[in-house]
Amino acid sequence: MNLFPSSVRITKVNKETPLVTSLVFEYPERAAPGQFVMVWVPGVDEKPMSVAFDDGKSITVSVAAVGTLSKALSEKKVGDVIGVRGPFGQKFTWKKGDRIAMLAGGYGVAPLYFAAHEAVKDGCTVDFFHGARTHEYLPFADRVEVLMNTTYYPATDDGSRGFKGTSVACWVEKMGDDYAEAQKYDLVMTCGPERMMKAVSDVAFELGIKALVSVERYMKCGFGICGNCVVDDSGITTCKKGTVMDNEEVRKIAEFGVYHRDSLGKKVNW
Ligand SMILES: Cc1cc2nc3c(=O)[nH]c(=O)nc-3n(C[C@H](O)[C@H](O)[C@H](O)COP(=O)(O)OP(=O)(O)OC[C@H]3O[C@@H](n4cnc5c(N)ncnc54)[C@H](O)[C@@H]3O)c2cc1C
Repeated sequence: MNLFPSSVRITKVNKETPLVTSLVFEYPERAAPGQFVMVWVPGVDEKPMSVAFDDGKSITVSVAAVGTLSKALSEKKVGDVIGVRGPFGQKFTWKKGDRIAMLAGGYGVAPLYFAAHEAVKDGCTVDFFHGARTHEYLPFADRVEVLMNTTYYPATDDGSRGFKGTSVACWVEKMGDDYAEAQKYDLVMTCGPERMMKAVSDVAFELGIKALVSVERYMKCGFGICGNCVVDDSGITTCKKGTVMDNEEVRKIAEFGVYHRDSLGKKVNW
């Protein structure tokens, strides 16, 4: 684990959607699905970014341009240098042959695409539910669709692609009125907006399906020292004990799906 930033040169830039840009760079350490790196633009900021892919030599991060750092990253070109440290955090795990439902929203699709890519090599089958505002905001759709043993279910708020509604509603509908198909899943994985993940957590709990949830909080150090990403008054640092956590643990976090804390530690409702 690389605790201090390495200078890396961007080797590839890919515009995924109007909002999301992927940056590829060679990196000395290997990362697993669910882990994140801290990405630094000198003079701007340093923030956590999920690892969207690791091909054994290079790491990809996929950035949604929403604020200061993410907009600066989205403007980077091939040859530009950024600072990267990590990888940090827990991985998504599965057993050989598991039947997995993945529920992704926002930039959460990137780590789940990476997880699906690896899980199918272990003989797993994946139903991949992917929610967005419109068809334009479904990054990685083309890559998920062509994965072997994977069925892709897009869901859009306006119905412009796939199911009209949320990815969770699409998943619930697919399982049938009486959740007849629920028993086909050994495992659920989710990464995306927290209110979406709370709904996934609730459904998986009700149906008794094991679930892994990515709990993201405002992170600074990335390896459990600064305490910035602690949830409730538990002492649980989501950068180290998470971000990928077992649903049983997540359901004990009172603030999950309700609020998070901003850079000053002030509560912000989701
Ligand atoms: C584990 C983890 C993985 C992430 N992976 C990705 C990813 O793959 N792609 C991606 O685009 N974004 C990812 N993010 C979010 C990213 O770290 C930034 O928060 C986001 O890019 C906004 O930063 P900004 O400087 O552009 O915006 P700002 O102008 O600083 O803030 C915009 C909003 O983001 C929130 N925010 C700012 N910094 C953080 C932080 N360090 N952690 C959590 N929330 C924050 C602020 O409260 C504000 O609501 C991840 C966050 C975490 C915690």
